[in-house]
Amino acid sequence: MLNKTGVPTAEDIKTVSPSEERLIKGPVAIIECFQEIPCNPCTEACKQGAIQPMEDINNLPKLDFNNCNGCGVCLSRCPGLAIFIVDASYSDKEAIVRIPYEYAPVPQVGEKVVGLNRAGEELGSFEVHKVQSGGQKNKTYTIWLVVPKDLVMDVRGIRLGGVRHAAKETIVCRCEDITLDEVKSLISQGYRTIDEIKRVIRAGMGPCQGRTCRMLIAQELAKVYGIPVGDVLMPTFRAPVKPVKLGTFAGGE
Ligand code: SF4
Ligand code: SF4
Repeated sequence: MLNKTGVPTAEDIKTVSPSEERLIKGPVAIIECFQEIPCNPCTEACKQGAIQPMEDINNLPKLDFNNCNGCGVCLSRCPGLAIFIVDASYSDKEAIVRIPYEYAPVPQVGEKVVGLNRAGEELGSFEVHKVQSGGQKNKTYTIWLVVPKDLVMDVRGIRLGGVRHAAKETIVCRCEDITLDEVKSLISQGYRTIDEIKRVIRAGMGPCQGRTCRMLIAQELAKVYGIPVGDVLMPTFRAPVKPVKLGTFAGGE
């Protein structure tokens, strides 16, 4: 399901969710990282020892909820925007969801924005409680959103002021620095599949092997050709599906 739609299932979410007891105690990270990609800034970012060091850089991060204080440092360091901080202890009826955000313009404190679920569906209009800049070198903002308590594990994105469109220079493939504009330009020339686009601009040929850009390109193709994302022809997956040390092939490791 995740490979086909880019949306994690309820079962996927269960594997990264804290117990109800931990959830109501206070802020805690939710690491929604489901693809084995060569990436580990989250493990380096956590000074509480809550995210275990990885033996293999392709491993999925493992979080000890009881050691996590919800500081949010990992959220702003995750290039995959896969980490959220939730605080179900905020008030009797409301919770805070902290969401990584890299679009422009950045919402303002007090502004009402549309809260979205993991599939991009609207869940309601929610107030921005706080906006945290990632600092001079880090363009990831953290948006603190006040949401009804029962939506704390559902709200995972925001949209400002109705329909917005990503800027042309938005990066679609982070490994190869491919922009949305480059992808759109190929689609407008008649390219119809992810494979065709990959062969021309290398989107999906970097270390993560398309785990991020594949679904973003599929969404663009679906939009232009008026078909469901699930109907976009997926590329063929060939071994090795994740980076492997040459020593493994040589039988040495
Ligand atoms: S929120 Fe803070 S304590 Fe929790 S995992 Fe992230 S960096 Fe570690
Ligand atoms: S994408 Fe984010 S959560 Fe996943 S391994 Fe990289 S830094 Fe950690």
